[in-house]
Amino acid sequence: MDDVMNESHATAPQLQGRKSKYVVYDWAMNLKTQAFYCDNEGQTLMFGEVYSTFSATRLIRLVPPGQRDRVKRAFQTALMTGEDCYLHCCLVTPTSLFTFVEIYMYKADEHHLKGTISPCLVISNAQEASEIFYGIFENQHHGVVVTDSDTRILACNHYFEKMTGYLRNELVGLKTNIFNSSSHDDEHYRALWESLGSKGYWSGVLLSRHAQGKVFPQSLTIQKIGLGSGEDYYIGLSTDLSSDLDRLEDTQSGGVDILTQLPTSDHFLAQLTKRCKATDRDNTLLVLAIQPRFASKGTNEQKKRFAAYLKEKTSALFSGYMDSGRFLACLPVVVEHPEQRVRDIAKTLTTFFHCFKHATKDIHEVLKTGLLGVSIYGVDAETPNRLVSHACQAILELHSGENRRIAFYDRSIHLQIERKKRLEAHVQKSMLNKNVEVYFQPIVSVKQQCVEKFEALCRFPPLESEPATTQDYIQVAEDMGKIFELDNLVCGMALEQFKALQKRFGDTLQLSVNRSLNTDVGIADVLKHTALALDDAGLSPDCLNIEFTESAFLDNSDNSQQLIQTLRDAGVKIAVDDFGSGCASFHYLTKSFFDVLKIDRQFISGLEKGTREYHIVHTLVHLAHQLNLDVVAEGVETESELALLTELGVDYIQGYLFAKPESTTQIVAHEHYCQWPKTAPSAPEQTLMKLVSKNSHHLDPGDPLSLAHQYFNVSHGDYLAVVDNKKCVGVLSRSTMHLHMTPTMGTDLETSKEKNYWHKSVNRMMAPGGTVLDWHTPVKEVHRLVTQGTPLPWILTDELGVFKGLVEMATVLSFCVED
Ligand code: C2E
Ligand code: MG
Ligand code: MG
Repeated sequence: MDDVMNESHATAPQLQGRKSKYVVYDWAMNLKTQAFYCDNEGQTLMFGEVYSTFSATRLIRLVPPGQRDRVKRAFQTALMTGEDCYLHCCLVTPTSLFTFVEIYMYKADEHHLKGTISPCLVISNAQEASEIFYGIFENQHHGVVVTDSDTRILACNHYFEKMTGYLRNELVGLKTNIFNSSSHDDEHYRALWESLGSKGYWSGVLLSRHAQGKVFPQSLTIQKIGLGSGEDYYIGLSTDLSSDLDRLEDTQSGGVDILTQLPTSDHFLAQLTKRCKATDRDNTLLVLAIQPRFASKGTNEQKKRFAAYLKEKTSALFSGYMDSGRFLACLPVVVEHPEQRVRDIAKTLTTFFHCFKHATKDIHEVLKTGLLGVSIYGVDAETPNRLVSHACQAILELHSGENRRIAFYDRSIHLQIERKKRLEAHVQKSMLNKNVEVYFQPIVSVKQQCVEKFEALCRFPPLESEPATTQDYIQVAEDMGKIFELDNLVCGMALEQFKALQKRFGDTLQLSVNRSLNTDVGIADVLKHTALALDDAGLSPDCLNIEFTESAFLDNSDNSQQLIQTLRDAGVKIAVDDFGSGCASFHYLTKSFFDVLKIDRQFISGLEKGTREYHIVHTLVHLAHQLNLDVVAEGVETESELALLTELGVDYIQGYLFAKPESTTQIVAHEHYCQWPKTAPSAPEQTLMKLVSKNSHHLDPGDPLSLAHQYFNVSHGDYLAVVDNKKCVGVLSRSTMHLHMTPTMGTDLETSKEKNYWHKSVNRMMAPGGTVLDWHTPVKEVHRLVTQGTPLPWILTDELGVFKGLVEMATVLSFCVED
């Protein structure tokens, strides 16, 4: 023993007291005999008494069972590798409750292991132990939570309560997964459990859920404690990092950036891949790379708030964080205008920016002054990877010192969006300065061959550098949410200027105004404002037509129906504009909202007999007439179109053939404005319709004799048609009426029998009489018809048998004489 001790490299310092921290005892072990040697002081510490020798087993028995394996392993390592080892463990000694010691060892030679043992902490009794335990457990800077092997919480300290927002008694018995914030990926949790299993601990940063729902970052160490009895415990030691933002910057853990709590770019990409797969060809996605301009002070705090806003309060489907203050967002593009993708893309971005209007001022500002790169799925990128890299590249383009803040990877989209912005600025400025004009285009009645209405069309001052159509400006105003305001402005101006047109074209002239329903303002307000403008102008409701381009917005609600009906009852006509251009559908015609159907120019341009367009117009005219709607053909440019449309029974013609839209001053200055072309063949005046007396009345079968009497009094004709459901079911002649009348009828002297006759319905007196003829029959046929003795009156109908007018003997005779 002495030999061995003499070889010891360490010398035992003088023991100053059992609790001294710096005491070191030498020991040696004979590997052959397993005999253990230690100086007396050391032995007294360990065993409470001094032995001449003792075995290594005896020493090991002092170690609590849960720590024994570790001690044995250290001895083995020192033996096998020849390396110096040291470890800490507790020794349950007879002289104290337990002592926490450091054991150092090395292989001295083939037969000996040597080392030192140094008591770090001697816990004398249970009272002392409990004080120390309490001091550690209830410390002020770390949360401590103890769970069983099932992770059910057994105890926690006050710091932990504060950090998690739960009270200890609420937590006891619950599993720790109640703190799971679902921020990290599954792999993260798998790695945690694997480390606990293999190493007995895990350490890292975790996002956890607070009792009130918010997610907070904590630095956490979980330690597994095996008691040797087979029972395991876990101890969690944590620190709340919520206010330690600088420490969190660009720290990623389990697929999440801890500071922003957003998915890392890899995880963003994984979500994007799923989303791309689910996106069909008709819709698309935008990926934005966003580099907000954070204030230099408090950047991390702003970054965190920006991220929270981006994630929770915007139209982004999902978002992510790359690094160095760059964010990613994925926006779905709702395709409303497949033929104008740029419009939908611009709308998607506008909506995204609008979302930030409700953020605190500084968050809104960092976005507004920051940079944004945009990539579009299916346009400039076909894969999720490309989407992200293109969005980032687009941002880089913005560093060239320009004023721009948004860049699209796709150059042509970029240019279109830039143009849109310039148009928006022009619309905004023109409206603000009321620098918008109204032009009028005539709508010509086929029957009367003269202007019966004018359509009011707005005109913006031309932008020299940026040619644009009125349709472009209207779209921009709609997208900016300014169309209601613009329509009110145009409607007011149009009604005012219309008076000059009425002066020139007569009081029965009508005005047709366009009202867009592509606005957040409901139809009720649109109608109300139009009616108010009409009132202000002091014009009769009979004068006004309202054209709705977006009939898709005319809902079925009782309220809209009632409002429309009220206006129609007052005399206002409602027109469905651009019918067939995609917005309107047949469904709406069945709603009886409308009085006028305007067939879109695409069916009219270059109209030829027998073409698809011809059949469509033919069908539309029939359908409209069945539903009691007047038909306007839009965009008529040639006489041959006019001829065909007249033949097809269209009621009104609008187009450059008659006049382009012009200002009232220009219109009034024309001497022969808008003449019906002399050469136009088969105009209705060349048909038998020419002989139908204007303003003639007809009767319903149930109308009384008294009404027939009234009608005959105001007309020169000898016949009245009796019309049921648009078909002529008979005629009542003046002489037949007289047969049923007496001189006292309708006077105070009438008998009750006479009274009955007076109220007798006309279907009991009418005769089938007359001849039914096609209303297209050319007027020059009259001579032939007369020579053939075709019985009069002639009842004119269209192909569907709809009654069009009555031609009487007197008119035929005077025509023959004049001709
Ligand atoms: P719209 O209501 O269908 O008006 C007819 C459009 O066709 C006008 O275009 C007119 O100039 C054009 N047009 C008429 N006849 C012909 C023709 O023979 N050939 C050709 N090529 N074009 C013809 P404009 O004035 O450019 O207006 C375009 C559209 O913008 C209008 O179509 C209407 O939907 C809308 N719009 C115009 N002004 C207003 C307004 O004040 N409010 C609203 N909400 N929309 C308006
Ligand atoms: Mg229109
Ligand atoms: Mg139109």
